[in-house]
Amino acid sequence: MHYFVYHSGELYCEGVPVRKIVEKYGTPLYIYSGKTIRRHFKIFDSAFEEIPHLTCYSVKANSNLGVLSLLAKEGAGADVVSGGELERALRAGIPPKKIVFSGVGKTVEEIERALKVGILMFNVESAEELYVLGEVAQRLQIKAPFAIRANPDVDPKTHPYISTGLRKNKFGVPEEEVISLYLKAKENPYLQPIGLDTHIGSQLTTISPFIEAVRRLKALWKELEGLGFELSFLDIGGGLGIIYGEEEPPPPEEFSSAIIQELKGLPLTLILEPGRIIVGNAGILVTKVLYTKSNKEKNFVIVDAGMNDLIRPALYQAYHKIVPVLDRGEEEIVADIVGPICESGDFFAKERRIPKVKRGDLLAIMSAGAYGFVMSSNYNTRPRAAEVLVEDDQVFLVRRRETIEDLLRLEEIPEVYKI
Ligand SMILES: *Cc1c(COP(=O)(O)O)cnc(C)c1O
Repeated sequence: MHYFVYHSGELYCEGVPVRKIVEKYGTPLYIYSGKTIRRHFKIFDSAFEEIPHLTCYSVKANSNLGVLSLLAKEGAGADVVSGGELERALRAGIPPKKIVFSGVGKTVEEIERALKVGILMFNVESAEELYVLGEVAQRLQIKAPFAIRANPDVDPKTHPYISTGLRKNKFGVPEEEVISLYLKAKENPYLQPIGLDTHIGSQLTTISPFIEAVRRLKALWKELEGLGFELSFLDIGGGLGIIYGEEEPPPPEEFSSAIIQELKGLPLTLILEPGRIIVGNAGILVTKVLYTKSNKEKNFVIVDAGMNDLIRPALYQAYHKIVPVLDRGEEEIVADIVGPICESGDFFAKERRIPKVKRGDLLAIMSAGAYGFVMSSNYNTRPRAAEVLVEDDQVFLVRRRETIEDLLRLEEIPEVYKI
């Protein structure tokens, strides 16, 4: 469910025609619906209201400060995977005690900062990282609350690039080594075990891998309890899938009741790290048709957004619905919708049935709110798109379009080459 709907053949975001927003801010343009983000957060969060829980929105899915502050206002916590994301979460007003820090490659500087601001916990992904965390904590004389991220070797049945809980993935600590790490942590009084963590992948469309992972965590939790550890937080990560095309992911209530069923009676606070499900269908990327051309085999629609703006089709063979902003009831054609970048991987759709378009028409690439702008780059020296956030009939510019000058500002021509 989202608030991008047609009124008399024209696509709106909430109360505003997309065409109007584009007239002011240009293309390519990311448009987010505040009402949709709020709705998704509330549905997801309240699905777990039966048990103590904390919903730590996965910042990497969409880290715009406008989006983060909206979620902060709704009471969301944050799951961050870098020092930069930590600063964003803090800047947006998310309390440190609602922030968890995940990721396989935390630097000493990142650990120091997170300790100093007093985050809820570090999700530790290796023995070496645990050692370094202890060392830094001791040096700063600040206790480090941590969870070990277990890699339960569960197949999430998703795209290989977004599966994270298999032995062959770089994430977490193998299940059989988890207990010995907690025991090892006892050697340093600055290491404070307070939770247990996992995250098995993204865009999952069935519940069973989650249940299997939770059962593995439960077994570890019990074993740790037997050894005298008193943990408080069980973090099961994110990963619940959304509908891009024909997927049929379980609704949040079905997901939550299955998880709650497994955890009922255990004295713990559940931590959830949803990303895509909160913002994925709350954003679109609007692009303008630059040219159309055909050869004997194909029709091409060349648009002004590229893989630098939205890399998901190129990176994961991802499907995004593409619709006209003004639906004039044109006959349909089959075309490849491609960007201006000098790569054959620069496409949004192949052999796609869409209403016939012409130069100047606007197209909306749907479900682009997660892993869209955040993965964008300046490849081909293309300034990154602007981002706007809509609330009813109000439009807020939450990131202005980059200029060429922005892109060149950090570079320098060595004196010896100057002419
Ligand atoms: C990416 C990520 C998430 C969010 O995944 P979604 O599929 O967007 O819900 C949660 N936790 C961790 C550790 C992640 O890396």
